[in-house]
Amino acid sequence: MENLNGIQKLELEFIIQNLIKMDIILNDKDYALFDYTPYLLRGSECEKPKKLHFQLGQVVYLQHTNAIGVVIGCIDEVGEELRTDMDGMVGFDDLRPVKMSDFSLEDVRFQAKLKDEVAQAIYEEAVKVYEKTGQSGVFDFALDVGVNEYKHCEPCDTSSPTADGTSCLVCGSELEEE
Ligand SMILES: [Zn+2]
Repeated sequence: MENLNGIQKLELEFIIQNLIKMDIILNDKDYALFDYTPYLLRGSECEKPKKLHFQLGQVVYLQHTNAIGVVIGCIDEVGEELRTDMDGMVGFDDLRPVKMSDFSLEDVRFQAKLKDEVAQAIYEEAVKVYEKTGQSGVFDFALDVGVNEYKHCEPCDTSSPTADGTSCLVCGSELEEE
């Protein structure tokens, strides 16, 4: 590591960040009441931009309204706004990728089915993370996606993260109530 220059170090950090960074993407059609235009350029329909700050179907936290929503369309990379199922158009600066811990925020609003679907998406990703990096990788991943619930897991012989409160994110075993 010492032999790397600053730029290489930054690149390496970026790669590592992306290995564990995860956008939670669901099917936007399950959350949209209407067919919205997916991508806009100054209000007019356009092709999918090469670089997107937020993806269609991505689960996001809306800071102003204290809500968790799904991006359902009208993503305008130039105007920096988009539409979620919880609101009208929202500016990018009001949004960030969701974390599991957001569901425990006081008075936070979200569609009833959303929490289970996000937990399921996190679980599916954790399986892939485990295959690549093993148990410690899943612990890092859990921190990264804001999983803040831990319960004792018999097979793992330790306190393990759980996204849905019932199964171990590392090995999938059912966890006992403490
Ligand atoms: Zn386990």
